[in-house]
Amino acid sequence: MTTLLQIQPTRPPRVRISAASARLRFNGCEPDYIRDVCKGACCRSATIPMDKLIAVQPWEQGPVEAYGGKVSAEGTMVPVHGRCGFQAHGTNLCWLHTTDAKPGGCTLAPWCLNKNGTVIVHNRYKFLKCFKDGQQLPAYVAFKGGLVLLLGEEQYGDLLAHMEAGGGDYMGEPTLRGWGHLVAEYEGRAGKPLQLPQLAYQPPLG
Ligand code: SF4
Ligand code: SF4
Repeated sequence: MTTLLQIQPTRPPRVRISAASARLRFNGCEPDYIRDVCKGACCRSATIPMDKLIAVQPWEQGPVEAYGGKVSAEGTMVPVHGRCGFQAHGTNLCWLHTTDAKPGGCTLAPWCLNKNGTVIVHNRYKFLKCFKDGQQLPAYVAFKGGLVLLLGEEQYGDLLAHMEAGGGDYMGEPTLRGWGHLVAEYEGRAGKPLQLPQLAYQPPLG
């Protein structure tokens, strides 16, 4: 079987976003909620093995280090006392959130690829306090940032309208950056290249 990168080295394929997964309910990442309720658990070792805390792509390493972060030889953020070193004590907010140095993998973290290359909510997020809690927003709203990174603002607007109208799985054209993060996360987790058998009937556009 041929991998994605062997078929299309510069352009990702269309990607399927699971409607069922995108409709899972979460509170959303509001500052008060992060400070008082969830404590930013997704950036802590209780929910993510520390050696897989967050992947830092090679082009992100310089900016992360410029803010004082350490990146392991394997390309992951080096944690400090069981949590990401950029998570502020007290507020539990991310120091990098409003900077250009925040790794794309952080923004995309609620989303991942399954073995078929479909975008779903990462299973570990179902074990967080925010799952089925508080406002109970659909994931496509609660975790909008990751989908915007993956699809861009315009396509995200299209996905939003599609989901609000009760649509099924959404097919989109991912950005190279967003797709690259998802593939890297999948391959790091699975320990093998992503295989995309559906490429046989879902060729890239253009
Ligand atoms: S994903 Fe959940 S646990 Fe993580 S910061 Fe957002 S609300 Fe908190
Ligand atoms: S950089 Fe920010 S979002 Fe990413 S793991 Fe660290 S605290 Fe969490």
